[in-house]
Parts: sequence; structure tokens; C-alpha cells
Amino acid sequence: KGAIQVEGVSKIYSNGVVGLDNINLSIKPGEFVVVIGLSGAGKSTLLRALNRLHDVTAGTIKIDGDDITKASGKKLRNMRRNVAMIFQNYNLVKRSTVAKNVLSGRVGYYSTWRSAFGLFNKDDQNRAAKSLERVNLLDKYYTRARDLSGGQQQRVGIARALMQEPAVFLADEPVSGLDPKTTKLVMDDLKRLNDEDGLTVVANLHSVDLAMAYATRIVGLKAGKLVYDKPIGEVQEED
Ligand code: ADP
Ligand code: ADP
Repeated sequence: KGAIQVEGVSKIYSNGVVGLDNINLSIKPGEFVVVIGLSGAGKSTLLRALNRLHDVTAGTIKIDGDDITKASGKKLRNMRRNVAMIFQNYNLVKRSTVAKNVLSGRVGYYSTWRSAFGLFNKDDQNRAAKSLERVNLLDKYYTRARDLSGGQQQRVGIARALMQEPAVFLADEPVSGLDPKTTKLVMDDLKRLNDEDGLTVVANLHSVDLAMAYATRIVGLKAGKLVYDKPIGEVQEED
């Protein structure tokens, strides 16, 4: 599980800006794909399309054979659970505890009123503790998110995303603004999910060096077009 098939995908924003221009990309389960490109190249637009945070203008995106661009209702919800995402700005609720933030990765499994009151069951509380163990932050369970460092907040974001029990893990500029040591902790967490759980990882990064250190494959975007796509073993210095 965790295959992604992008066919002829274009995204034109309502103001006429072309975010993506006819992207074709086939990703196998367990790959660690790093997408590189300048700011504005379309990296974020691509990731947001993969879990349907927004709609595309043309083309199809199949996750394990099912087209997520056309799914709706319960089927779409189930597909989106399978494609977790972390963000550049972490997107945590800063005044809430780490535990509550992590448990919020499970809200889709609850009725609205239960999640509104934070009435998570014992299984999910255990699941939250396990997720936090994966990123070595179990000791922060009752800490408020705003009292964590940026790197710790991103790792809580990873723990929250794991609550979905996804097959695909999307990371949109997960380490921008973090120092090298913290960057390594976050990237190592992603690598571990890729190695140990076999999750397919697609990460947008600015740094070619980081891409070389972690990716199994590097994809390059430029002005919404896919201009580069090579497995790590074939990447040349002069590329
Ligand atoms: P969509 O076509 O996906 O519905 P919209 O054009 O409606 O997207 O824009 C969604 C949001 O992004 C709006 O709040 C808009 O103001 C904001 N936005 C507009 N232009 C840009 C831009 N160049 N970069 C980032 N965000 C933008
Ligand atoms: P990257 O992630 O590579 O920096 P983006 O995917 O954010 O690039 O942006 C690709 C292009 O789409 C840019 O020209 C950007 O300004 C534009 N863009 C991004 N989001 C929106 C939006 N919501 N509305 C309009 N234009 C957008």
C-alpha cells in the first residue's frame, strides 16, 4: 500500500496563476521522494493535490488505484486518512497540550460532539502515547504546544499524522527554519517511518544536500512543470 499515480495533472488557481502544468509521476510503495525546486515552482500545490486539500483543474491522482480527485463522501474521507501530511508552520493548536494535538489526528473517527469535548477512548490515548514514543516526545504529553521548540512541534505534527495510520506521508517544507541538528531529528523521524513502517514519503525540500541524504528519488519542479526525475543512484553532480 502507498502507491501514487499522477496523470496529466494541472492546477490553475482562480486568479489565473498556473500552479501545476501537466504533471505525470508514478510513485511506488515505500519510496522516499524528495521534491525540489525554487519558491513558487509548485511543490506545495502538488502535495496539497495529493491528499486533496485542494482540487486540481485537470488530470487524475490515484492512490492505490483509486482516483482521489473524483472521490466524495465516506470514500474520500477514507482515502484522505490514508494520506497524512505535515506542514511548514506545524499547524498545531498552540494553547493545547501535546496530547490533545496528537489525539486530534483521530477526530475523523469520532462523532462531532465527542471530539468537541475531547472524549477520546482508551485505545486512542494509548495510540497517542505510542505515536509520541515514535518521535521521542512521550515526556511532553501534558506540555502545551506553544512551550515546545520548533523542531519538537514538527515532531508532534508527525505524531499527530501517524494517528491516521497512513500509507502515504506528505511533508511540505518540514524543516525550513530549523537548525541543522533539529533538522536531522525531524528528517530521521521521517526516514524511520519509511524504513520501519514502509510508508511512502513525499517531502518538499529546499536543500539539495538534504535531498541527497534522505531521498530514494529526486523530483524537480520548475514553473509548475516536472523537469527532473531520477532515482538517487543516477543523480549526477552536474544535475
Ligand atoms: P483555489 O483556486 O484553489 O480556490 P484561490 O485562488 O481561491 O484558490 O485562493 C485561495 C487562497 O489563497 C485565497 O485566500 C487567496 O487569497 C490566497 N492566495 C492568492 N494568491 C496567492 C498566492 N500567489 N500565493 C499564496 N496564496 C495565495
Ligand atoms: P512552492 O511550494 O514550490 O513554493 P507553490 O505551490 O506554493 O510553490 O506555488 C506555485 C505557484 O502558485 C506560485 O506562483 C504561487 O504564487 C501560486 N499560488 C500558490 N497558492 C496559490 C493560491 N492559493 N492562489 C493563487 N496562486 C497560488
